[in-house]
Amino acid sequence: MPVSVAIIGSGPAGFYTAEALVNSGVDLSIDIIEQLPTPFGLIRGGVAPDHQTTKNVAKKYEKTALMDQVRYYGNVEVGRDVSLAELRGIYDAVVLAIGAPRDRKMNIPGEDKNGVFGSADFVGWYNGHPDFRDLDPDLNVSAAAVIGVGNVAIDVARVLVRTKNELACGDIPGYAEKPILGSPIDDIYIFGRRGPVEAKFTNVELREMGKLEQSVPQVKAEVLPDGVGDLEDREKRLKERNLATLREFAKRQPDELRKRVHFEFYASPVEILGGDRVEGLRLQRTRIEDGRAVGTGEFFDVECGLVVAAIGYRSDPLEGAPFDEKQGIVPNDDGRVDDGLYAVGWIKRGPSGVISTNRPDGIAVAGYIIDDCGEGGKAGRKAFEKILKERNVRSISYEDWKKIEAAEIENAEGEHPRKKFVTVKEMLDVLDRP
Ligand code: NAP
Repeated sequence: MPVSVAIIGSGPAGFYTAEALVNSGVDLSIDIIEQLPTPFGLIRGGVAPDHQTTKNVAKKYEKTALMDQVRYYGNVEVGRDVSLAELRGIYDAVVLAIGAPRDRKMNIPGEDKNGVFGSADFVGWYNGHPDFRDLDPDLNVSAAAVIGVGNVAIDVARVLVRTKNELACGDIPGYAEKPILGSPIDDIYIFGRRGPVEAKFTNVELREMGKLEQSVPQVKAEVLPDGVGDLEDREKRLKERNLATLREFAKRQPDELRKRVHFEFYASPVEILGGDRVEGLRLQRTRIEDGRAVGTGEFFDVECGLVVAAIGYRSDPLEGAPFDEKQGIVPNDDGRVDDGLYAVGWIKRGPSGVISTNRPDGIAVAGYIIDDCGEGGKAGRKAFEKILKERNVRSISYEDWKKIEAAEIENAEGEHPRKKFVTVKEMLDVLDRP
């Protein structure tokens, strides 16, 4: 009897786990369970729509999805359609690959005003994620602030200043493309509470900000240090590249192009200003002490009609699994959570790293499953399908997803690679067509 494995979540961490299990050569049956009809998690709903080359990694995941041992069950929500306890009862191993879909809070006054968004919601909106399609941010403003200096902050700022030509080859939904292209935003401020050396963005993403058609990056030369200080070799090279790029940005003129993205360091948000709607942001100047940002007591205000906090994500607890509220992850020992329960990706280690960082997680957990589960013995897929049938849960197979994808490609306009369906109903309707 094959060892039966259920992987909850079909993002990179889930697919790398499935791939490593397939590659082990052990007799396994692997079921990938996903709450949306569509697979690939953040590859579809997180990676920016103008970064299509990054999204190509899904082709590799597809090879895994089409292996004989693997079955995809989309549109099945664990916690609603089936419980984790039930899955643990019928599978030899259950892997949590459910990511970190919620925004961390800034915990400052005014955070609940209209026009203030977390990046998980905002990115989900411009990526056509069904949960965020109705966000409807008002982009009819002249300035915006993005909090945090990581890659998500850069993604948000870049997408907001893109031109029609630059968005043409991406899969941004029309409902987001239209207000972005029509937006009078001329200035976007990206605020880092620490300095340029501590910033989390990577160099390729930073450099891209200097090559945009209608937006020029701005940095004040006086905040850039001469060197990056004592760091390990690899880290040092990365930070030196960022500093060199920021030095180039410091030479750019504010009136070169129509829009500006300002990189502002040593500034920590303390209050969102305005009435019901955001009208500005109050920040405190900081200095670094022992690597931490410490307020100097000097405050300043910036006028802006939109604030996006890109300060990191957190996971949701899943009933039946332990949860560390402070860290926002499932407590685990290198991916082992409990007997027959494992975790990979952001639910295991928090929201850090690039797509391929999830691969070693998958390889490690696949190894543990093979070591821990012996000959298997639980009914797995057969019992799972029985539950779905008894409860009338409409699960989506990989073949169904390919039909939905084909319709998205067929509906594409102009150079766009696809026109995403942005509600579950639209996706299911494709399958119901005669
Ligand atoms: P991130 O890299 O951890 O950056 C978060 C930023 O928010 C940091 O600058 C952090 O500053 C700041 N921050 C946190 N709490 C704050 C607060 N209360 N007030 C002000 N600032 C605060 O997170 P991310 O940008 O969400 O990215 C998540 C992961 O996805 C990263 O590993 C990223 O590289 C990856 N990603 C990659 C790409 C790509 O490769 N193109 C694209 C998107 C995302 P401190 O450093 O001071 O804490």
